[in-house]
Amino acid sequence: MRLFVGLKTRHLAQKVFSPSAAVRWPRPLCTCSPAENKPHPSMLKHLTSKIKSTGPISVAEYMREVLTNPVTGYYVRNNMLGVEGDFITSPEISQMFGELIGVWIISEWMAAGHPEQVQIVELGPGKGSLTKDILRVLHQLRSVMGGASVSVHLVEVSPVLSALQAQALTGSESHVTTEGEEPVYRRGNTPDGLQVSWYKRIQDVPPGFSVHVAQEFFDALPIHKFQKTPRGWREVLVDIDPDRDEQLRFVLSPNATLASTTLIQPGERREHVEVCAEGGVVLQHLSKRISERGGAALIADYGHDGTKTDTFRGFKDHQLHDVLTSPGSADLTADVDFSYLRRCAGGVACVGPVSQNSFLRNMGIDARLQVLLKNCPDLASRCQLLRSYHTLMDPGQMGERFQFFGVLPLSRVQRPRPQTGLNLDKTQRPAPLPVAGFTELKYA
Ligand code: SAH
Repeated sequence: MRLFVGLKTRHLAQKVFSPSAAVRWPRPLCTCSPAENKPHPSMLKHLTSKIKSTGPISVAEYMREVLTNPVTGYYVRNNMLGVEGDFITSPEISQMFGELIGVWIISEWMAAGHPEQVQIVELGPGKGSLTKDILRVLHQLRSVMGGASVSVHLVEVSPVLSALQAQALTGSESHVTTEGEEPVYRRGNTPDGLQVSWYKRIQDVPPGFSVHVAQEFFDALPIHKFQKTPRGWREVLVDIDPDRDEQLRFVLSPNATLASTTLIQPGERREHVEVCAEGGVVLQHLSKRISERGGAALIADYGHDGTKTDTFRGFKDHQLHDVLTSPGSADLTADVDFSYLRRCAGGVACVGPVSQNSFLRNMGIDARLQVLLKNCPDLASRCQLLRSYHTLMDPGQMGERFQFFGVLPLSRVQRPRPQTGLNLDKTQRPAPLPVAGFTELKYA
């Protein structure tokens, strides 16, 4: 089925693209001290003593420990985003990215019939730039949003990053909560008076109509790795290398593991498979929230539709980094398997994945670029703006590698049943509005 962005979305986009919309470029550089990014020897010690006591660990356990161990985890200790960090992401490249996602949120809110309360939920908000850009659009379009009450809910495992997010969104208007207030661990207010709350897990966010955004979040969740062998599927594990001091190596489990017997699809044709079971659980929570209380989820990440094999890799100082060397000093990541996420969704409709290039173009990035270019004060800023546009959009850069995937209530995309015979049903729903940014619909 082919659908195109509806008029309502274009109308919204034109409003946002008015010359009064603020230009914010370049983004400030990250302010992490170089010491923060140093390798952490205690992480290697922690892993080797774990392996010595329990035997080789799964790649998922390795990734979970390295990234989110509460004391030494890479995300927990570091501010890794930006030019001086290990990698840079779309919201850090250009304000246009978050602004267009803000327009998407409003279009889904309108399609849902303008609920009075709307929760913006971001998973893995990094430096808070995406939510900041979204909230600026919501503020500019407050006449469209009417009196809807907006609150912000951030799912973030890192205390370092949550402090940066708080600074970006609330200035000094936030505080770490006291013990009785769990599961919220930080609260604050934006300058417009919107309440912002921080949680460690999606299941802790209160129920209610919510539009969820996860940009480069799923790629950071732990994956299991499996290899096809003549004896069947075997899980890839991480072990201590007996031949090299203080080094880790991959080994194959001699027998089937619980993960290898439950996570591989029957009839799987690939020889090597990565499965992000934790991502599947997050998707199940999102599906439940959306099917019960309405809303939507927009997942933006690099990924594939069940075709790729070995994508596990590390990043340090914007370079590829061996995943088993100096654990804790580099980001670990794997491509998102959208076909797996679709299989985990239940009672909802899934749209996409579509490329970042198509999504942003469907959302009107070209019109937004023109407005920003007109308002650029000098040639250098114009060049910078064009460069950032090309980074987001060019197929050789982020345009094709990055994909957008949507999760929506079934009612959002179901066509009304064709009428047969005498029609006495006066309550028939109108045809659903097209989903902004996407052109093709698939059902879970
Ligand atoms: N969305 C941001 C940051 C991407 S980096 C951007 O695009 O710029 C991944 C983010 O997810 C970080 O904020 C990291 O701390 C957070 N994160 C990683 N694993 C997490 C987990 N298991 N639970 C919650 N947050 C997590």
